[in-house]
Amino acid sequence: MSDPTALDTERVAQAVLKEVLAHQRRMRDGGCTAEVCPRCAAHHLDAVREAVAQNRRIEFVLPAFPTKSPNPAKVLGPLPDLAEELALRFLNSLCERIGGIHAPGATIVLCSDGRVFNDLLGVTDEDVTRYVRAIDEMITRIGATHLEQFTLDEVYNGAGHEEMRETLSAGYARSVEELREEVRAGGAPLAMYRGITRFMLEDLSGPRWTGTRSALQRKCRTLAYRVIQRSKAWGDLLGELFPDAIRLSIHPQPCSSEKIGILLADTPDVWLTPWHSVAVATGDRYTLMKRAEAEEAGGRLEFVDGRPSHYVLDTADSGRLRDRAA
Ligand SMILES: [Zn+2]
Repeated sequence: MSDPTALDTERVAQAVLKEVLAHQRRMRDGGCTAEVCPRCAAHHLDAVREAVAQNRRIEFVLPAFPTKSPNPAKVLGPLPDLAEELALRFLNSLCERIGGIHAPGATIVLCSDGRVFNDLLGVTDEDVTRYVRAIDEMITRIGATHLEQFTLDEVYNGAGHEEMRETLSAGYARSVEELREEVRAGGAPLAMYRGITRFMLEDLSGPRWTGTRSALQRKCRTLAYRVIQRSKAWGDLLGELFPDAIRLSIHPQPCSSEKIGILLADTPDVWLTPWHSVAVATGDRYTLMKRAEAEEAGGRLEFVDGRPSHYVLDTADSGRLRDRAA
C-alpha cells in the first residue's frame, strides 16, 4: 500500500462509492449504518478499484424503466413524463459527479425490463415499445450522455415478443417452488415478495378488475412469484452480458448485497418509482406521489408540449400534506 499509485486508486475508488452510496435505497433494518455505509462500500470496493486501476469507464447496470403502471389512479398515462425525466437527470448527474473524481467517467445502462414481464401486468407489447422509444428520445433531448438503454429486444433480436420471454425463462428461470422456499425463510426475499405483491394489487385493482378483492389478492400473490422469477432470470442474463458492471437496483437492498439499491427521487416511500407515480412540484423541490393522492392534495396538472407532465402543489397545500403525513 506504500505505492503512491495504489494509494491514489484506493482514494478514488472510495470517493466514487461515496457518491453512489449517498443515494442508497436501503431496506429497513437491513443492517446498514452511517450516512454512507462502510460495510456496503467495502463490499463493492474491489469492482470499483479494478475499473479505476485499469483507468476504464465504470459501468453500472440498472434494471429499471419497464413501462408505466396500467393503473390510471397512479400515473398520467402509458408514456414517460416528468417523473422519468427527473430520474434520468439525476442518474446522469451522478455519472457526471463520478467523472469529476475518475476521469474516464461512468455510464449507467438502463436495462428496461418491461418486455420481461409486461404480459403479467396486463400491459401490451406495443405500450412497452412506445415507452422504451420515448425514454430513448428523452435521454437524447435532455443530453443525458452517460445513460443508455438495453432491452430484451436486443438480446433476441428478430424474435417475437412472446418467444423472447419464453427463451429467457427456458434458459434462466428458477422454479417457483424454489423461490417460495426463499420467501418463506424471510428477510430480503420476503420483503421483495411483499413489495411486488403490493404493486401488483395496486396496478391490477383499476376499473378493469371485476372480481372480488380476495380473488385479486390470490391472483397477485401468484403473479408476484412469476414477476420475481422473470426479473431474476433477466438479472442472471445481464450478469453474463455485463460481467464487470456494478449492479444497481431500484429495490431497497439489505447491507452488503450483490446489488446497490439506489433512490431515483426524493420520496418518502422507498418503494415508489417514477413509473408507479407522478412528479409533484412542491415549492422548490419535486417529489413522487400516486396520481390520485396528488389530485386529492389539490395538485394542479401541468402540460408540457400538449402532454400531461406533472402536478404543482402550492406551498399551503404542501404544508397541509406534510401535516397530514406527520
Ligand atoms: Zn450497508
